[in-house]
Amino acid sequence: MKAKVLNILINPDKRLRKKSLSISLSEIKDQKTKQFLKDMKETMLKEDGAGLAAPQVGVNKRIVVLNHENKIYYLINPEITKFSFNQEIKDEGCLSVVDENGEIYFKPVSRHKWLNCKYQDEKGKTKKLKARNGLARAIQHEIDHLDGVLFIDHLKKN
Ligand SMILES: [Zn+2]
Repeated sequence: MKAKVLNILINPDKRLRKKSLSISLSEIKDQKTKQFLKDMKETMLKEDGAGLAAPQVGVNKRIVVLNHENKIYYLINPEITKFSFNQEIKDEGCLSVVDENGEIYFKPVSRHKWLNCKYQDEKGKTKKLKARNGLARAIQHEIDHLDGVLFIDHLKKN
């Protein structure tokens, strides 16, 4: 089936605050999941986002799609296994966080500069990824979504 653009939830929506559940290998291989991954990618590209997490489209599962340097990454059940002590402050925005005019806005957020991450790809294969700078930031932002955390929650700490 053709990929479709999904509706993105906007803060404050309680569904953005739920902790998402891991998905099983058989579920990853399920046709419905394959379609959902296509739809997530389509939605991210249409909205010109650097990433999208399943809870942002109302699906309470640990699935993330990223668009980094024209490469699409599907991270299923992602886990950060190691991260730098050093942090870096850079502007961050989110498709689910808009101002009173419905516009996305950017604020500086402190994130680990690099990290190692373990995940399953769209075929269910376990993969490891070393990420730094923008990609590391995107992974931290998206994994936060899986735990019901939004980037604005970090602003007070800066
Ligand atoms: Zn976001």
